[in-house]
Amino acid sequence: MKSQHPIFDTHAHYHDSRFASPDTGLPQVNELLNTLFTTEISHIINVGTDIPHSKSAIALAEQYPDMYAVVGMYPGSCPLPFDEGQMEDIIAQFAEMLDHEKVVGLGEIGFDFHYDDVPHDIQKLWFDRQMRLAKEKQVPVVIHDREAHGAVMDMIAAHPDVRGVLHSYSGSAEMARQLCDRGWMISLSGVVTFKNARQTVEVAQTVPLQHLLIETDAPYLTPHPHRGKTNHSGYLVHTAARIAEIRGISEEEVRDITRENALRFFGIKKRPTFR
Ligand SMILES: [Zn+2]
Repeated sequence: MKSQHPIFDTHAHYHDSRFASPDTGLPQVNELLNTLFTTEISHIINVGTDIPHSKSAIALAEQYPDMYAVVGMYPGSCPLPFDEGQMEDIIAQFAEMLDHEKVVGLGEIGFDFHYDDVPHDIQKLWFDRQMRLAKEKQVPVVIHDREAHGAVMDMIAAHPDVRGVLHSYSGSAEMARQLCDRGWMISLSGVVTFKNARQTVEVAQTVPLQHLLIETDAPYLTPHPHRGKTNHSGYLVHTAARIAEIRGISEEEVRDITRENALRFFGIKKRPTFR
């Protein structure tokens, strides 16, 4: 039965090859998505990381009325060696994808300083170019920030007309406050359920509720008590429950507030059948 308080999963990768593997212990992806959309889940945003994955994120979103897509170049996927002509060609393809009715933003873009496969200066060229594209197309951005908080904040400050969300937020409560002051959103993942997540718990405690989103990052970042398994949107119930516990509010409130925030932030209209 469909929940009265269904959850909006703002960040997942259902087109990921892991979901096509029989080793996940999960049903086939279409069967899994049908179950999710008829039980606990209201909407899902499927996030691309390069041109092929963005195309497949859109193709999957076309199959479900409440699945949307975000398209962009992930920092770890930027082509090497850097070639400006190639970047402009790819940017033109993303620009065209952004006109698709199921595409609601540009991402995931940003900085990953944990891995050094792509030099930081090349990550920066792509991040900056995509922030300019977001401004041109007036779309929100989805930011990946791994061990790069200062550089991400500098990029955001350099593009004051762009709004976005920091996905699977891992910064401090103080940085979250600065982002919210700028009109940005904070998205919390299953990490908030982990025992050693002291800083993320502090963020969950203090972030203004109207700036809060939740996500799986499926197939990654599986919440407690399912760590070790392949993540999917159904496990978001644990993330919502943990945030409710931290805030001292009901699970229903966390589900309803984060769903309404996501609909508003990504400019998604409610369908007539959606209660
Ligand atoms: Zn992701």
